[in-house]
Amino acid sequence: MIFRKILLLTLLTALILSTGCSKEPTVSESSSESSFASIIITPEKSEVSSESSSSETSSDSSEHSSVPEKTPSSGESSVPSITTSSTPETSSSAPEETFPKDYRTLILVNPWNHIPEDYTLELETVQGNYKMDIKAAESARNLLEAAAEAGFNMQLCSAYRTIERSAYLYERKVNQYIGYGYSEEDAKVEAARWVAPPGTSEHHTGLAMDLVSAEYWGYYSDLEHAYEEFDSFEWMYEHCAEFGFILRYPKDKQDITGITYEPWHYRYVGVEAAEYIMENGLCLEEYLEEIK
Ligand SMILES: [Zn+2]
Repeated sequence: MIFRKILLLTLLTALILSTGCSKEPTVSESSSESSFASIIITPEKSEVSSESSSSETSSDSSEHSSVPEKTPSSGESSVPSITTSSTPETSSSAPEETFPKDYRTLILVNPWNHIPEDYTLELETVQGNYKMDIKAAESARNLLEAAAEAGFNMQLCSAYRTIERSAYLYERKVNQYIGYGYSEEDAKVEAARWVAPPGTSEHHTGLAMDLVSAEYWGYYSDLEHAYEEFDSFEWMYEHCAEFGFILRYPKDKQDITGITYEPWHYRYVGVEAAEYIMENGLCLEEYLEEIK
């Protein structure tokens, strides 16, 4: 009888404990013990800029921009995104386990595919103030290290970008074209060829980075297609896949990607996909179509 009581008590305790566990709230802050600042954010919960701006150097003429990127500070507060109108329920981050396995690394964000409202990411420093999602950050650092060993001092000029940041860059570009005499409608179309409208920039995923060699800045002040003539580009093109990165906007795929050729923009997709994509000269859209 006593034994039964003990058994019942044990079962009851187990039941209470397990119920408690299932109610565990979604983790919103990383308990990562790494020395890198690590925060989970959603596109809706955008960051307050850290006052120390990055050393972004250039270009009005592309997704890349001369205005310093804002990077999250660890004491960030949530600022409503100007592009989303989600309810609190949909904007709270869902547990990662509910996403398909490749939800992040193979996520497609392009002019026709907005970043999902429930997309979450955990940022980690790659270089200076530039941060990427933890799935890509370590590989990016390894890639930079390998490039350095090969004699190339690669410098990031863009990585994770908030929706607000994209909105700012896009608006600026639209206004530039309006200044050239374009109608507002035409200005928006033209601007979108160079700067992804908010919500459609791959930089929102934390899986993309823009980088050129330090040497390049000795010759150019903007990001230009001429970067493809540098040895560092050749090295990157040849070795990026070993670290899970692809050249995301190839010259001959502009109709499919919707983005002009960008020899500086690399995207993390994981080693397996990257090697297949680079070996077969595909773009991400084509790869995703193939593995459907
Ligand atoms: Zn880019």
